[in-house]
Amino acid sequence: MTATLIDGKQVAAALRESVAVRTAGLPYRPGLAVVLVGEDPASSVYVRNKDRAANAAGIAARTLRLPAETTEAALLATIAALNADAEVDGILVQLPLPAHIRSRAVIEAIDPDKDVDGFHPINVGRLYDGTAALVPCTPLGVMKLLAHAGVALRGKRAVVLGRSAIVGKPVAALLTAADATVTVAHSRTADLAAECRRADILVAAVGRAELVRGDWIAPGAVVIDVGINRLGDRLVGDVAFDEAAAVAGAITPVPGGVGPMTIACLLENTLTAAVARRG
Ligand code: NAD
Repeated sequence: MTATLIDGKQVAAALRESVAVRTAGLPYRPGLAVVLVGEDPASSVYVRNKDRAANAAGIAARTLRLPAETTEAALLATIAALNADAEVDGILVQLPLPAHIRSRAVIEAIDPDKDVDGFHPINVGRLYDGTAALVPCTPLGVMKLLAHAGVALRGKRAVVLGRSAIVGKPVAALLTAADATVTVAHSRTADLAAECRRADILVAAVGRAELVRGDWIAPGAVVIDVGINRLGDRLVGDVAFDEAAAVAGAITPVPGGVGPMTIACLLENTLTAAVARRG
């Protein structure tokens, strides 16, 4: 292995600590409300981890567990109550929602100033015009890892694999704002390997186990692997790690790379939202 490992666990721990220190200096406790509809096991684990990390960082987190049969109207009423609650600075509705509820209507009902996921169209627009305060957590985590690794972005070629609204598109917007020259590649891209080989910085957010091979990577490139895929009994990224690490200059592992950054960035967004609302 020639690549430097970018240790997301360590960077995330430092960010959580920094949030805790800043929170301790406030005359109030920032509040985070997480809404979970139904019993999706993966979501339940994730929500429990969010609660624990938030409380450890001095954020008053509570989870509202609603039954799977909750109607859309009832969920919208819950969100309206959270929007009006002065103690609540951040609202996060855990996705996916049950099929009978329109996610779009729910996301649009959240007060944009409390939208710590950054998914509300107002915050999406602000991200593109460069005025966003609340940026989606995983993309924000990607940028923080690049900053931590000391990666210069100005004038560099960045390739983002994947164009989802949650990861690919916002990562591309943030890299563009940081003066990289950005290509977004996706499932209809003609020659994915050739696009990747041009990258100084490659961000993979596809959801296909080990799609990106070692010979897709330019020597010395920085590789950020957002993917989380199950391969047999292992968790792997979108990048074939061993092959890639033999050519790349720096690389994130899976697990222990981007994953831990997401919750840490959620805590930071909650703090940001609280300070913007309450000073
Ligand atoms: P998504 O399914 O919404 O989007 C995947 C994107 O990849 C699409 O834009 C699609 O065009 C592209 N794609 C699919 N197959 C492709 C192929 N064969 N070649 C090229 N492009 C292809 O997924 P997402 O929500 O953006 O998540 C992507 C991955 O990141 C998943 O593995 C997910 O689990 C992971 N993820 C991790 C975190 C984290 O906290 N680390 C957060 C969100 C998502």
